[in-house]
Amino acid sequence: MPVLTPETDQVLDAAKIAVGAYSPVEGFMDRATVDGVLADLTLPDSLAWPIPIFLSPPGKEAAGVIERLRPGDEVGLRDSDGRFFGVLRFQEKFPLDRSAIARSVYGTTDTRHPNVAALRSTGDTAIAGPVDLLESPRWPFPADELTPAQTRRLFARRGWSNVAGFQTRNLPHAGHEHLHRLTLERDDIDGLLIHPVIGPLKPGDYRPEVVLEAYRAVLREYYPVGRVALATLTIAMRYAGPRASLFFAIVRKNFGCSHYIVGRDQAGVGGFYEPYACHAIFDAHPVGIVPLRFREQAYCRSCGQMASERSCPHPEAVRTATSQTRVRAALREGSPLPLEILRPEVVSILRRTVALEGELGGPVVGPAPGDPGEALAEIAERSGAV
Ligand SMILES: [Zn+2]
Repeated sequence: MPVLTPETDQVLDAAKIAVGAYSPVEGFMDRATVDGVLADLTLPDSLAWPIPIFLSPPGKEAAGVIERLRPGDEVGLRDSDGRFFGVLRFQEKFPLDRSAIARSVYGTTDTRHPNVAALRSTGDTAIAGPVDLLESPRWPFPADELTPAQTRRLFARRGWSNVAGFQTRNLPHAGHEHLHRLTLERDDIDGLLIHPVIGPLKPGDYRPEVVLEAYRAVLREYYPVGRVALATLTIAMRYAGPRASLFFAIVRKNFGCSHYIVGRDQAGVGGFYEPYACHAIFDAHPVGIVPLRFREQAYCRSCGQMASERSCPHPEAVRTATSQTRVRAALREGSPLPLEILRPEVVSILRRTVALEGELGGPVVGPAPGDPGEALAEIAERSGAV
């Protein structure tokens, strides 16, 4: 049997296709399907789908294997550790149009965009077909990596009919916590699924073990028992702004969610997207899950609470943004962490862990160079975390 070794992102996609996380997508897409997704955000059966799911193993050896494939062939798939994880039933090959994908999905060909940059290293030819999984990848947090069947069973066991999904890559902070509360207050919501995407990291991302530990800590202290579930979703992050919002909503629907929280500039990166394009796209492309659309929440010092311009009259000058950019900058520079937006339990975790993925792929020490340890200890002390 011919054998191919896809990139990690595509190994993860294969595993998620196999458990129905990408339903109705049941295999790596063929050319016509990719073209339809790029042009109209639709699959051949006219259901909405915004992100192409393609298999394009890189390298000369792969190119040679692909060259010899004929429709009907079975292809063994191996991960980067050399484990056979699946078999693709080959249907079709086609040249991958990277710039068309970059333009349509990410809205740019600028290689400062992480997904556009990643496209450069993928193979030239994509191969299509359904995948049978022999073995799951080794998930970073096996007990937390629930399948759609498992989350649906969990919801049923808890008697939840209407569940809101929450997409994140970040530490819990006051802005997100406020969105969770607004959602949990709704009388049409039974539960909340907090579902961080923890696939391969880019420099400056929060490390997933820190995100999970922080979430566990705040869930324990500040959220009602039995109304929130936490699970991981290990796939490549797609920073595709509105298209990614739609994609992540469809995925959460597959996990059993009826509603989906969309904040400001969801799945955006570096100012590539209009901040509320991720709201509008749900009007143009209904996907069978109810979007819960929220404006950016900031801490208003005049109101003494979290609010947006929809619920408070005060000027921006008295509102403290909850942006993670500030938290990241503080971690890198060792400057004081913004305590009005972080729970003391989270501050305490940040103080003793390596929170950010390094610029060179290795870890950065949480308290950044310049001996900020003392400053951080002091902040934590003031906030009662020590
Ligand atoms: Zn106010």
